[in-house]
Amino acid sequence: MLGIIYLVATPIGNLADISRRALETLAAVDLIACEDTRHTGKLLNHFNIKKKLVSYHEHNEQARTAELAEFLKQGKSIAVVSDAGTPAISDPALKIVQKAHEIGAQVVAIPGAAAFVSALIVSGLPTDSFFFGGFLPSRKNERRKRLSDVSNIPATLLFYETPHRLSKSLTDCLEILGNRKAAVARELTKLHEETVLGSLEELTDKFSQSDVKGEIVLVINRAEISDFESQLSNEKSLPERVAELETEGIDRKFALKRAAKEFGLPRSEAYRILQTEKIKQ
Ligand code: SAM
Repeated sequence: MLGIIYLVATPIGNLADISRRALETLAAVDLIACEDTRHTGKLLNHFNIKKKLVSYHEHNEQARTAELAEFLKQGKSIAVVSDAGTPAISDPALKIVQKAHEIGAQVVAIPGAAAFVSALIVSGLPTDSFFFGGFLPSRKNERRKRLSDVSNIPATLLFYETPHRLSKSLTDCLEILGNRKAAVARELTKLHEETVLGSLEELTDKFSQSDVKGEIVLVINRAEISDFESQLSNEKSLPERVAELETEGIDRKFALKRAAKEFGLPRSEAYRILQTEKIKQ
């Protein structure tokens, strides 16, 4: 009989958010695989749980997955936890989940906090459809490309961000996505919890001047419906659309890329149309 693997969510800042089922599971399993044994050790101490811990983090995920699979094959049950929130959400767990499925072991979720869900519901932005993009790339060019790739998704966009990159990311969001409504949700469930609402322009301005600390989720509105309608009705030509995006503060390269996508054209073709238009003028 194979063991069961439990993916146990832990609090994202407020220990009172741990669920009774999480505590019962952590107390009952044979082994807990966690990102940082000291960090999880403190959590378990707080709740008076004594359990064997093994480290399972991004640097040993591959090797540990094989070991954990052996435990499962011996019929032992395992809980996987990350430092905070839900395992496998911008945290390790995916590999052992895939391996468990491969060997036929049962995978059970013990749900709880995930920072992006809390950020979404406090943001006041539409919750009917959302896109969670994890961390934005740290390199400027890659970040701008990622933003350009998601710019037309008709959903509220959510990203995890670090305090030292927030200002740069907001600037890129403004330039690539245009001046949308957004929210910076910081230190959720903690003492200094705050959610700052504003346009991307206002938030860029605010956070370029203040020294921000703590953990952050960036929430950004979808493109306005009117944008999509104008694209669909095709009232504008491609060069007009590029010019319009440029007036919204999006630089030419990304404006062209986005317009090409909206018109369903390869970028080279969009570029050719733009050049032809220039020659005519
Ligand atoms: N597994 C976690 C989850 O379920 O949300 C995410 C882990 S990821 C390594 C850590 C990032 O999540 C932080 O850098 C921050 O962007 C976000 N985060 C975690 N806790 C948060 C909090 N209390 N308030 C705001 N953002 C938080």
